[in-house]
Amino acid sequence: MTKILDGKTLSLLIAEKLKVRISRLKQKPKIVIIQVGNKDESNAYIRNKLKFAEKIGAVAEHVRLAETVSEMSLLSHIEKLNRDKSVHGIIVQLPLPKQLDERVISQAVLPEKAVDGSAFFLPATTRGILTLLDHYKIPIAGKKAVVVGRSELVGKPTALALLNRDATVTVCHSKTKNIAKETKQADILVVAAGKPKLITAQHISKHQVVIDVGINMVNGKMVGDVDFEKVSKIVSAISPVPGGVGPMTVASLFENLLDAYALRK
Ligand code: NAD
Repeated sequence: MTKILDGKTLSLLIAEKLKVRISRLKQKPKIVIIQVGNKDESNAYIRNKLKFAEKIGAVAEHVRLAETVSEMSLLSHIEKLNRDKSVHGIIVQLPLPKQLDERVISQAVLPEKAVDGSAFFLPATTRGILTLLDHYKIPIAGKKAVVVGRSELVGKPTALALLNRDATVTVCHSKTKNIAKETKQADILVVAAGKPKLITAQHISKHQVVIDVGINMVNGKMVGDVDFEKVSKIVSAISPVPGGVGPMTVASLFENLLDAYALRK
């Protein structure tokens, strides 16, 4: 029987734990989410974060700036929040409009407050993936992990985190010659490419654990990068989309926020 790695249920469990921890705090942890413009996709992600914050009793402030905001003006907003002692976490919702350099903006956030990933915090998606694997007692050390996708936000930090947990890691990307040859070798396969049905029956083998990070909208339906119907019949465990890595990412962001809160104390 294929095990479904249920990120939705685990995220609710994490929410309960965070709620108890926050209820004991005099000052509530506060996160500020900066959005530039009004993209539907970003609105949906931000809504999920605000909902989660409310559920656990954290303070979440949503700052929406005009699509045309200048780099200088955005940087001065960030600097103000960096200095504000009541703010423990700051995230700038990506993607940003073209006039803004994502790297410059992301690096402007104080690392101690950059709860979506910095020298202090694993990016939320990476932390979510590790938490999901650990919860289901899937061993990482000594295993062969293959990560498809090498983005700064997901692929690279996840590959590095698996390496730090003593997996032997291969990273595939859009220039990889024979993806199936690589993916078939994996004990743990993490797919973060943003391409629906990139991974199907021919890419996998039995006994694998598949983590599908992709979020794609196809005919109004949310799907991952893995052909779930076919792949789930073969592998030993798989995370679904929706209900897998997505909710784990939100929960992990708030675990990072609690860590940021503790760091400041
Ligand atoms: P990205 O576009 O920045 O990076 C995609 C990566 O996939 C690149 O490194 C590229 O080389 C690789 N790639 C693209 N096409 C490929 C192909 N045909 N074969 C092999 N590799 C290929 O995207 P990202 O920000 O890393 O996000 C990846 C996916 O994960 C997207 O669907 C995104 O929406 C989703 N995502 C989900 C969460 C979550 O919480 N579940 C969080 C962040 C991103």
